[in-house]
Amino acid sequence: ALEALKEAVRKITRSATVDKALVEEIVKDIQRALIKADVNVRHVKEISDAIKKRALSEEVLEGLNPREHIIKIVYEELLKGIGEGLEIPLKKSKIMLVGLQGSGKTTTTAKLAKYFKDKGLRTAVVCADTWRPAAYDQLKQLAENYGIAFYGERESKDAVKIVENALKKLKDYDMIIIDTAGRHALEKELIDEMIEIAKVANPDYKLLVLDAAIGQLASKQAKAFHEAIGIDGIIITKFDGTAKGGGALSAAREIGIPIAFIGTGEKVEDFERFDPAGFVSRLLGMGDIKALIEKVERVAKQEELDPEKFLKGTFTLKDIYKQIEAMQKMGPIKKIFELLPFGFGLKVDDNIMEMTQEKMKKFKVIMDSMTEEELLNPKIIDSSRIRRIAIGSGTTPQDVKELLRYYRTMKNVMKKMKKLEKGKLPLKFKK
Ligand code: GDP
Ligand code: MG
Repeated sequence: ALEALKEAVRKITRSATVDKALVEEIVKDIQRALIKADVNVRHVKEISDAIKKRALSEEVLEGLNPREHIIKIVYEELLKGIGEGLEIPLKKSKIMLVGLQGSGKTTTTAKLAKYFKDKGLRTAVVCADTWRPAAYDQLKQLAENYGIAFYGERESKDAVKIVENALKKLKDYDMIIIDTAGRHALEKELIDEMIEIAKVANPDYKLLVLDAAIGQLASKQAKAFHEAIGIDGIIITKFDGTAKGGGALSAAREIGIPIAFIGTGEKVEDFERFDPAGFVSRLLGMGDIKALIEKVERVAKQEELDPEKFLKGTFTLKDIYKQIEAMQKMGPIKKIFELLPFGFGLKVDDNIMEMTQEKMKKFKVIMDSMTEEELLNPKIIDSSRIRRIAIGSGTTPQDVKELLRYYRTMKNVMKKMKKLEKGKLPLKFKK
């Protein structure tokens, strides 16, 4: 169901105009996708209200086109909705896993162990599940497959004692992961055992293993575990096989506990640290959301136009961009030409040089839809690229051609200027 978020983003990218109707439609699509994914209705409302409000009121950031602007808002609000992930530092620690039977604790114990072993920690696992007869063999087998130290007592029925013994045996290990028993429900017997194990083990992290397939029920379950023993983080399993994963995400947010990892398959390798930014990017189907954010930052700190550098270097569309940015400070280009020595010998088409506010904006939007390569080497912009750029920026091929014409004229001017007396620039910029 969360797949539908990608479609919403695609709709933004493809739309001819960005207006209120589009924003409303997109917000509806997002609402539908989140509700279908079992995200709590209150969260859905919070997230969609925020997107709508910002999309309709905030000014488009410099350097972004209106489409990118909306996508950025969607991204940011979803990220805010998910909250921060829990990052477990790579140092000597103990982790205790709790959760209902079948939630994926034993599998996740092995996954975690491999994760930390791969990061260079001496890692061991402990089977403290005396409830399920096969638990011992299951974990031992998994541990052996990955060369991970294992401790368990096959015949014992005393989980607390096992943990006590394990900790003595495993003193030299950096990371100790304790797999515990689950039940079909959170009964008193299970709670008591968890509390006792936690007392003996004194874990740095008590992590709740939540099956994503239970959807909205995750919230009740997580709350109950949190009240019973106090949870430091959540691991969501079986994210691969369900359309209801939003329920577990929502549950974490509701009780205010960060998500640490996500299980995405039965194999030990199907496991990843929960990185909210990467996660949301993937939900939106944009590996390049990072590029988008970087673009905003780049524009934000874009250096002011240095007239000297401006005249000397190779002249690309990037310079036009800077030029437009600087124009408000420097005054129109036409004024600059008036400062040039007489007989400069360049006929400048008034139409081309007339730079209205509106045209400035349009040119910037067009350039925002160009690739870095096109900006640096405008020669490669052929008619098919022109078409793509026009669609991407919501302008027409004529508009793009006009910009290119403007660029060529300016480039010509620059070339002539460079031929003038070297070293000393023949003109003064008015302050
Ligand atoms: P436990 O009772 O909590 O220890 O649960 P187990 O670790 O024994 O897992 C129960 C079932 O869920 C097993 O069949 C696992 O292979 C499966 N499982 C665990 N994690 C995942 C996951 O991330 N994705 C999928 N598809 N299956 C998983
Ligand atoms: Mg188990």
